Amino acid sequence: MNDVFTLADDLGPLKVIHIHEPGIGLKGVLVVDNVARGPSIGGVRMAVDVTTEECARLARAMTFKNAAAGLSHGGGKSVLIGDPKMPKAQKETLIRGFCCALREVDQYIFGPDMGTDEECMAWIKDEIGRAVGLPRELGGIPLDEIGATGYGLFHAVDVAQDFCDLDIKSARFVVQGFGAVGKHAAKYLCAAGATAIAVSDSKGAIYNPDGLDIERLLALKATGKSVTDYDDAEHRDGDAIIDIECDIWIPAARPDVIHESNVNRLNTRMVVQGANIPITYAAEKKLHERGILNVPDFIANAGGVICAAAEYQGTGEAAAFAAIEEKLRRNTREVLETAQREQILPRDAALAMARRRVEQAMRHRRWHIF
Ligand code: NAD
Repeated sequence: MNDVFTLADDLGPLKVIHIHEPGIGLKGVLVVDNVARGPSIGGVRMAVDVTTEECARLARAMTFKNAAAGLSHGGGKSVLIGDPKMPKAQKETLIRGFCCALREVDQYIFGPDMGTDEECMAWIKDEIGRAVGLPRELGGIPLDEIGATGYGLFHAVDVAQDFCDLDIKSARFVVQGFGAVGKHAAKYLCAAGATAIAVSDSKGAIYNPDGLDIERLLALKATGKSVTDYDDAEHRDGDAIIDIECDIWIPAARPDVIHESNVNRLNTRMVVQGANIPITYAAEKKLHERGILNVPDFIANAGGVICAAAEYQGTGEAAAFAAIEEKLRRNTREVLETAQREQILPRDAALAMARRRVEQAMRHRRWHIF
């Protein structure tokens, strides 16, 4: 990328700030995309290969996710270049340095993302007083521990079942990525009567057509083991999870896992996206052509940010769960009804809805995006 203005369109980004402090080896980027709805909330991603462009794409995704969820927050994201598994003292220095450099940018509220966690948020809160996803002892709601995103995903499925003539109680589902999002989604679906027939993590996949015992799997993961240590199932390589015939397929791991060249391997009736951008647009089009219902990421996985916004407002865990349920159900229904009525992709319906909500806020501003 030669010029950050190549990233610019009518919605943003408002600010792109590069931070560099050679004394501690700090290199990071903040993109504040659009704050027409309020101060932006978005995670700090730490990885060796993060770029300004990735940061800008993720910031835009947050603008849409927050607007779609009806939050009074805009979209932003920050990235910190480095190995998140570096010695803790070094990581703490980098994170403290990064947020101090951004102390004055109060249009951005730090949250956790890949490579950062609630302890990192505690360091940021300590330095500049502005972070969400804090540890409980600092007034935080530990959204991964309580399964905020998985809870929202369950409600998205519960609403979506009416749109593809499916009954959760007899549905068989598959989860790619049995982590914070995937395992809680599986827990709630099983509690509603569905059967998990296959799950995977970074070590591989397991499959049992008669059903997996989710409580045993949760206990296994809690001890730091892999789903592949579960005995009562066939073991397959991770990629094979795509081929397993099921009613509901849930990607909850990496971006771009389903693309044009493997989308036809999916043998399911519904896809509900837990991960961010797990399916390319071209692949989503193919799903649509095949009549497979698809609930897009920023609609289905908004539970985490709704919980973070509730924490920022100072409301408790029960109110956060009530907000997740109400917003996820309403948005999923609105998106799927529009898609059905207008014969368009659910993603196009979701994008139009989110864009409309951002633009409505922009109309009240003298400077449209801030
Ligand atoms: P996590 O690290 O807790 O879990 C990810 C899981 O995926 C792990 O079990 C890991 O072993 C597994 N995994 C990694 N590579 C894999 C592969 N190639 N095949 C199968 N499994 C693989 O992360 P998480 O918080 O559950 O996030 C998962 C996805 O959901 C990410 O895309 C994240 O951006 C997105 N997301 C998370 C939240 C949240 O609240 N945590 C909210 C919205 C979106």
